[in-house]
Order: sequence, then structure tokens, then C-alpha cells
Amino acid sequence: MEAKQAEAKAPASTARLKELMAGYYHRLQQAATDPGQKVAWCSSIGPAELLLALGFKVYFPENHGAALGASRMAGQTIPLAVAAGYSPEICSYLTSDIGAHLAGITPLTASHGLAEIPRPDVLVFNNNQCREVQDWFMYYARLWGVPMLGVNSPRVLGQVKPSHVADVVSQLQELAGALEDIAGQRLDPARLERAVGLSRRCTDLWQRVLELSARRPAPLSFFDHCIHMAPAVVLRGAPEAVEYYEALLGELEQDPARAAVPGERWRLYWDGMPVWGRLRMLSDTLGGLGAAVVASTYCNSWLFPALDPRDPWDSMARASLECFNVRDEEFKQAYLLRWARLCGVQGIIFHDARTCPYNTNSRFGLPRRLREGQGIPSLVLDGDLNDLRCFSDEQARTNLEAFVEQLAQA
Ligand code: SF4
Repeated sequence: MEAKQAEAKAPASTARLKELMAGYYHRLQQAATDPGQKVAWCSSIGPAELLLALGFKVYFPENHGAALGASRMAGQTIPLAVAAGYSPEICSYLTSDIGAHLAGITPLTASHGLAEIPRPDVLVFNNNQCREVQDWFMYYARLWGVPMLGVNSPRVLGQVKPSHVADVVSQLQELAGALEDIAGQRLDPARLERAVGLSRRCTDLWQRVLELSARRPAPLSFFDHCIHMAPAVVLRGAPEAVEYYEALLGELEQDPARAAVPGERWRLYWDGMPVWGRLRMLSDTLGGLGAAVVASTYCNSWLFPALDPRDPWDSMARASLECFNVRDEEFKQAYLLRWARLCGVQGIIFHDARTCPYNTNSRFGLPRRLREGQGIPSLVLDGDLNDLRCFSDEQARTNLEAFVEQLAQA
């Protein structure tokens, strides 16, 4: 059934993306070796805007986790963390990263010339996404005697209530006081408003890029989004991310016939983490079946429409609480349905990532509710974000082929 499709050309903006990422890592490297500058590690949906406003260079360990997965170095590093006492059942970003530290290796050496990851002056988490980030950062806090600070967030929320927002605002403000001492400067409200405003602009532009998937054919796939989301992850709050998405959006809007999957026949949604070490294989397999994965929960995770520079504290708290993976099953079901309808998808692939239950949404009956209540068929694909021992190429191919065959017969 699988037939080779012509490959879509990468958008021209991809060259700019490489420069942007090179600049980002170069600045981090400089900051890590300059006693006059401070580096903060931050969880991916942690308070990056606050850190930027206080002059920190911000490094995101989860981005390093993804790089370890994509480079497949994770296969080498996970066992070292397991040997050091970390279970193979917990987040494989965590085990990949701690294992990489133990081995003294990083994919950033080959990609950006970094001899080692930039050491932090402070580690800042928000456990809105999972408990792992806190335990992950604690490893380095203990190792290097570096302060670890964070926000303990309520989770599994239906409605985000004023009491939830007030709780997180007070934690963020307390955090800001402690960070001022480490940064050696007072927080300038104008700088905070600027960072929040730039982050919001980044969200608005990235959202418009993602919503172009409503077009037929879709101009970019989930696999493309996994590449183009990088500025929204590591450069949100900085003008470079805004410039990047303005250019990308302009390029895509000027090319209405662009197709991520030439000859697109099927339109699918991806829920859950990417399988970083198998993006190419999955993209080729699905593309060969004429199936475009047009949207995903994962690449939407860096949309923070609540951010508002006129009310930075309240809106930062709201943005962290309104994220998909902080929410309850009812919210998630409605969210998936909204995106499925917007993008006209015919089916959903739920990635059951062995080591990330927090971003796995197939375990509490959601696929069945969407199938029986809304008529949206789905496939649950077993795998993992980084630990490829949990993923079988052969089984994935067979399951994807059978799923598309089922769609064809419906
Ligand atoms: S959300 Fe999942 S992948 Fe991300 S750090 Fe937490 S456990 Fe790891």
C-alpha cells in the first residue's frame, strides 16, 4: 500500500531558523563563561518571561532532551542514568539528560560547537506539566549546589478559577524576589511587560502558522511543526522569535498551493509527544500512504493566548494554568474536537509514550469517547519520546497502514 511521494521542499525560512538557533546557543555559551552574566534553567512552560526581564539567559533542559532523542544519543545515555538509580519508567528526557551529563556528552557539540551544556546560576521549574521537572532539576541543584526555585501548580483543572490564579501569582511574585537577589538587579516592570508582550506576539504568530493547517492541502505537517516550533520554545519573549514567525507566516501565505504531503489524501491529528528518534521514519511512512498529520497537541503547547502585557502577573499565571496538559479530561476532549474540526481531520493518532503519562491522553477512555460520541476514529501507537526500546518500527508501520486502510474503507 505504501507508495513513495514527492517530498515537499523545506520553507526558505528554515535557513534563518538555523542562524537563530546558532545565535541562541552562542549567547548561552558566552553567558555561561562570563561572570557578569547569569544563566537560568527553566522548565519548558515555566516563567521564562520573568527570567528574561531579570536579564537571565534562559536554557531549557527539555529542549536538550529532545535533541538527545532526535540525535539518538539517548540510547547511549539512558542506561547510565538508570545505573545511577533513575527508573527507566520515568521521563526519558530526564534519564537521557542526566545520562548525557554522566557520560560528558551532548548533541550540542556537533550541532552548535558547545563543549558542554551551560551551567546554571539558578534552576526554575513550574510543575504544571509534571513532577519530573522538579526531580530532574534537583539532580543538578544537588550536584552543583545551585539554588532551585519553582512554582507548585494546581493540576487537572476544569475551570481555571480566580483562586488558582491568585495562588500562582503570589508564588510568581515570591519567586521574583528570590530571583532578584540571584540576578543582582531589581525587576523593572517595563522589561517584564516587554517580555510578556513579545511572548504574546510570538504566540499569536505561531498560532496563525498552526492554523494554516486548515488549508487543503496543509502547508506544513506535524513533523515540520516539530522543527519550526523551536523559536517559540527557546526564544519566546525575544524579538527574534517574532521576526522569525512573521517571515515564516508571510512565506506560507504567499504560497497557497504548498503541500506538506504532495497528493494529500488523509488528514490526521497527532496527540502526545513526538517520537524524536523516528520523526523521519513516521513522516515517510505516513507520507507514503498519502496521509498528512496536519495538527498536534504537542506543537500547540507553546501557545499562551492568556499573556497580556497590560497585566503581566495575572496573565503569566493564567497562561501557565490554561495549558492543555494542566487540564481535565473534559477540557482535553473539547480541545481535541475543536482542532479536529478546524483542520478537518479524519482520524487521530494517540501516541502512548511509555515514560510520559502526562502527555499521553489515551489512558482514560478519550479515544473511545471521541470515536463513539463524535465518530472520530483513532489509533493508539505505543512508543516513547526518547527511549526507542519502547518503539517498534515494524509494528508502527503495520498499525499505521492498517489505520489508513480502515479510513479508506469507512
Ligand atoms: S511533561 Fe513528560 S516529557 Fe515533559 S518533562 Fe514531564 S515527563 Fe518529561
